[in-house]
Amino acid sequence: MIRTLRPGSRCYRGNLHTHTTVSDGRKPPDEAVRWYREQGYDFVALTDHWKPAANVHDDGILVVPGVEFDGVDPELGSYHIVGLDITTSPERGALVGPDTIVSYIADQGGLAVLCHPYWCGMTSWAVGRVEGVFALEVFNSTCEVHIAKGLSSVHWDDNLAAGKRLWGLAVDDTHWGRHDYGGGWVMVQADELSIPALREALLAGRFYASTGPDIFDFAVDGGRAYAHTSDAARISFLCDAHRGSCLYPEGGAVITEGEYTVPEEATYVRLEVTDSQGRKAWSNPLYLR
Ligand SMILES: [Zn+2]
Ligand SMILES: [Zn+2]
Repeated sequence: MIRTLRPGSRCYRGNLHTHTTVSDGRKPPDEAVRWYREQGYDFVALTDHWKPAANVHDDGILVVPGVEFDGVDPELGSYHIVGLDITTSPERGALVGPDTIVSYIADQGGLAVLCHPYWCGMTSWAVGRVEGVFALEVFNSTCEVHIAKGLSSVHWDDNLAAGKRLWGLAVDDTHWGRHDYGGGWVMVQADELSIPALREALLAGRFYASTGPDIFDFAVDGGRAYAHTSDAARISFLCDAHRGSCLYPEGGAVITEGEYTVPEEATYVRLEVTDSQGRKAWSNPLYLR
């Protein structure tokens, strides 16, 4: 059996991309952290542009320090990369190229995420050229709210089909101008609420991304994919190219379970859940070979 989630395990809810007045966000760091705590989040990452995160401590929520870097590569075009669990940043522009940025993040002991490729105008090919990121942002609230380019699922599928291994995050990328907060999050099955435990679960893909619905189980066993979700208007299994299947409830009700026979040729399968309000959840891909 292949699965990344552990059914029945506690999930910690968090936003892994947030701006504050340390760069171009409109809320000071402590207020930003408090907002997420008041909404019931378990953790929040502060990821200002080229600035180390403010050292905020809040008893009710775990704060993950991070930094967002960016640049324009002659071949790949514009790109943004978040480093999670790092506390330093050089001056803006001092790191040139995705490889240099990813190496810097690794040297600082952090985890690198490729941010909002659709918003950046990255092609799927360009995404594939960025090495050393453990995930991409399949959904980004601020990119959705401002220019309707929050969803990067095609970039994700193109790269999964090409054999690249990337987990998928939903994040806010909150700037606190328009309503770009509380729209996208991850549910992480960490062993406890600590940065080392979060890192371990994130790298293992033991999480799902959401703008609303929940995923309770997603597994492949003997060629059958199985999903158990919160109330859904559609449960979709996505594989390479044209392979996959959408399941709908009969008579306008909802479904909470689905099964799909994964084609022999498929190299991965992932799950998307859509609720009656059009909100979505994304499982991580299960790699079939
Ligand atoms: Zn960005
Ligand atoms: Zn950002």
